[in-house]
Amino acid sequence: MKVSKNNLLFILLFAGGIILPTAILSFLSFRNIQNEMFLAQKNFTENRQAFQNELEDAIANEQSKIFNEVKTASLFLYEQPQHLLDFGNETEFKSVDGIDAIFLFNKGQLVYPDIFSKHYYKSSGFSSIRPTADTKKLYQVEKNNSQDPRLPKAYMNRVQRGMRLVPFFFDNRDDQIQSILGLIRFYYKAKNYNEALDLLRILEQAPHQQGYLTADLTRSANLLHFDILVEQKKHKEAQEYCLSVLKAFLEETDVDDISSSKFFFESAFTQILSFENLPQDKREAFWNLRENFNRQLGYMDIFSKNQNFFQEVIEDPVTNKDGISFSQNDETILLKMAYPFLSGDQQVIAKIDRDAFKARILGKIKSVAKSWKGVPFVIVEKNDQVLLGQRSDSSSVINQIQISEVLNWELTLYEKDMQDIRKETRQRMFLMYGLMLFALITVVFGSFFMFRFINQERKLLSMKANFLSSVSHELKTPLTSIKMFSEMMARGRVQKVEKVQEYSGLIGKEATRLENLIGAILNYTRMEHGSEAFKWERLDFTICAQKVFDAVQNIAIEKGLEITASFEPGCYVMGDYTALYSLAQNLIENAIKYTNAPGEITVRTLNKDNQVVFAVTDTGVGIDSSEQKNIFNDFYRVGDEMTRSTKGSGLGLAIVKRVAETHRATISLVSKLGKGSTFTVRFKRAE
Ligand code: ADP
Repeated sequence: MKVSKNNLLFILLFAGGIILPTAILSFLSFRNIQNEMFLAQKNFTENRQAFQNELEDAIANEQSKIFNEVKTASLFLYEQPQHLLDFGNETEFKSVDGIDAIFLFNKGQLVYPDIFSKHYYKSSGFSSIRPTADTKKLYQVEKNNSQDPRLPKAYMNRVQRGMRLVPFFFDNRDDQIQSILGLIRFYYKAKNYNEALDLLRILEQAPHQQGYLTADLTRSANLLHFDILVEQKKHKEAQEYCLSVLKAFLEETDVDDISSSKFFFESAFTQILSFENLPQDKREAFWNLRENFNRQLGYMDIFSKNQNFFQEVIEDPVTNKDGISFSQNDETILLKMAYPFLSGDQQVIAKIDRDAFKARILGKIKSVAKSWKGVPFVIVEKNDQVLLGQRSDSSSVINQIQISEVLNWELTLYEKDMQDIRKETRQRMFLMYGLMLFALITVVFGSFFMFRFINQERKLLSMKANFLSSVSHELKTPLTSIKMFSEMMARGRVQKVEKVQEYSGLIGKEATRLENLIGAILNYTRMEHGSEAFKWERLDFTICAQKVFDAVQNIAIEKGLEITASFEPGCYVMGDYTALYSLAQNLIENAIKYTNAPGEITVRTLNKDNQVVFAVTDTGVGIDSSEQKNIFNDFYRVGDEMTRSTKGSGLGLAIVKRVAETHRATISLVSKLGKGSTFTVRFKRAE
């Protein structure tokens, strides 16, 4: 390709305007990517710090939120403890999610819960609470006289009366009571309630309060007694019995049997509440009694199980500036508050429900961790259980801190795996190279096609110019002859009849030439408008080719050529008759035009598979292989226009090509310079 001045300018602009900036940008990007690795490292250090801070803040916030909730609840407790103690009072107690129990102390003494307070009677509305026996007294007697003379005797009396033979040998008193209880249960199951109650009264008049088992048995006896009354439908008596047990319980000073008492009262109150004929006000009173009493019993249970720990915590001064401090042993976490609104002697101690507290704080931590995906970390509990994140053995530990004092949680932050960053950088580099290559290829191909396009345009322009000169020459030559002969005849110079005949014959021939030329031009322009102007129909191509053959064979014969045809009838195609006619005409006329005598021309049509084949073979001048791809171009003629001996417009094969294209047919050419050519057109057969 020759590079003209303009092209050179174009290339320079191209290189300057696109390639240079691209190269510079790419270079800068490479630098950037390399910098990024450094930045990522730096970023990570900052992120890690921010993550840690955010975690600590989240924990601190949630903790102080819980503490404040406890504070509010305890403030309420401080202001109206007596309401909560009032039996039958509807005051609701605020429970705090994450807190098991709250205690109020004054001068180291438990103020709330105070289940032994007399408040239960004050406003109870159950003025008829009367103990069935002076249990306290009996308890004293029992304690003083460990050999209770009444129990075995009473029991043995029954046995002697033959009511039931029980072959028991009692090693100790617990066993005695156990076996008596067994007997009572037997009667109870047999619905022999009176017998059972008789035995129960004996048992209840000799309560054994030493040791857990005994206390437990006492409540078992109480519950059996209560159940029997319920079974007997003596609801009123059952209520009164329950209240008498309550009174006896409140008068006791020993708090060892809290769990079994809790079980008794819980089940007795629940049954009472299910009595159908219980008046509404009593129902409400029992309901509130159950709520307040059970909660307080629950608190007392916690208190009695952790008494020593509570003692330590009470004695420990609160040094924390917001007046809250916490302490923990293996099982219990206690939160102590001594805030300004409490008098110096008063303290609130709350027992934290470890699981609920943990769940609340873990929830916050999780939501923080969600927004810091890139920071490798793990949070473990003291018992080594992983709470969040992932333990890593391969990455080195950067920081290890305790993030929650209350819960003993440890946060470990790991070094970010540089391998990852490196991998990412490498991937980006590859992407960058890829993009660069792509850009380069696009630019190169783009330029190549652009040059080709420009060149083609230029060629076309020159061909059009050629065409004009050729056409005007072609038009002028016959016109000159026509003008000359007609003038001669008009002036009367030609007198002889033979001459007149000869000249008018020549005029006619030149006019035909003109007509053909103009016809070709019109045909071409018609093709330029494409298939829209066509009239599509199913037609026999052989008939069309036959017509052309008949019209032109004389020209060949006159030229001294041998022309033969082999037509297969019924070569149906979908097409436009006029267009197909000019295709056949151009190919056959070319064969005649470019073959010198002596020579042969063969025209064939045939059906082959699902195709219709049209082939024109000549033994003419042939076409050089370098020219073969050009000859179908518009206005293209082989060789220099001025030195050409044959006349033509360079439009014939262009028309053939266009017709074939619009008919979806293919053209192939086999030709050898000096030997001849075969043009073959293959149409799709129309069934
Ligand atoms: P034209 O014949 O008017 O020059 P065409 O488009 O029909 O234009 O043909 C283009 C060129 O292809 C011709 O100039 C000629 O050199 C060459 N050509 C076409 N047909 C033949 C043939 N059968 N044998 C040899 N050369 C041919």
